[in-house]
Amino acid sequence: MFENFDEKYSSVTKLFKAMVEKNDNKVPNSLIFYGPDVFAQYNFAMLLARGANCTGDKTQNCDCQNCRWIKANEHPEVMTVSKINSKSEHDTTKTVISINQMNMIKDKLVISSDYHRFFIFCDAEERPFTKDEEAKYKNFAFLEQNFPKAEKENWVPLGLTKKSFTDLAANSLLKSIEEPPENVTFIFLSENAANIISTVVSRSQVFYIPGNSKQVFEYDFLTEILKNYPKIDVKMAVSLSDFLLKYSEENNKSMSEIIFSIQTYLKELLKQNSGNILLKKKILSDIENLQKANLMLKNSFKDIVAADEIAYILTK
Ligand SMILES: [Zn+2]
Repeated sequence: MFENFDEKYSSVTKLFKAMVEKNDNKVPNSLIFYGPDVFAQYNFAMLLARGANCTGDKTQNCDCQNCRWIKANEHPEVMTVSKINSKSEHDTTKTVISINQMNMIKDKLVISSDYHRFFIFCDAEERPFTKDEEAKYKNFAFLEQNFPKAEKENWVPLGLTKKSFTDLAANSLLKSIEEPPENVTFIFLSENAANIISTVVSRSQVFYIPGNSKQVFEYDFLTEILKNYPKIDVKMAVSLSDFLLKYSEENNKSMSEIIFSIQTYLKELLKQNSGNILLKKKILSDIENLQKANLMLKNSFKDIVAADEIAYILTK
């Protein structure tokens, strides 16, 4: 399902692949994808839905019934939820994901299903693509089949905002997000995780999906090794240190550059979680300690000493 992606997505595809390939289904019940490219996020959400439901060989070309349905966006249990998707005819709201839609989902969950159900939350508009959107769309050539066909014009996925996904609507779904029936996954797409109410964020696994900009790629390599941050077991310190040394060698990056990438990554994480006081404290202290490690390097300590120090800072 996740083959043929370029390097920029290697960390997320590795993680998602592991989620769908374990025999005991490991796709979490709530996920948040954030980053600059909602087309990419939508694509990965659909691929996860395929991976979790596929009865074939789980490759992109698989033609099992679930894959066919999802590719045609006709799967009865894979729903895109937006202000213009999955609305009943009687629902007169036009600008928000409505309480009515939340109730519809809750009603659906009462009945059990043979499928792994997916609810993909995003904002959306029916209009032609802008140039920038066109480029993002073309990035995933096979997307064409995956996209919900709008009645007339193109369908443009957009990131959730507090305006389109109100706190009221989000909170009415909390219980379902927290304790869903088996094999149910909610995915929330947004440019910035701060656009999603913290009660949902704290119940979800949050993934950064890179976009096209180069700067963003600079810290993509950290997504996997820091996925448990700030709760990385201190036993992982040695392998973390080894990873950083190896990454530095293989990619011709100095330890100072790596420290800068980690600090940037942590700052981004801070932005996404500004409401979490404990995490904020930990991040700020780690950024400062990393700065000290950087000074050590300037005083010509060896890379290996700096890598150990970084690992120690991030795991304790
Ligand atoms: Zn399949």
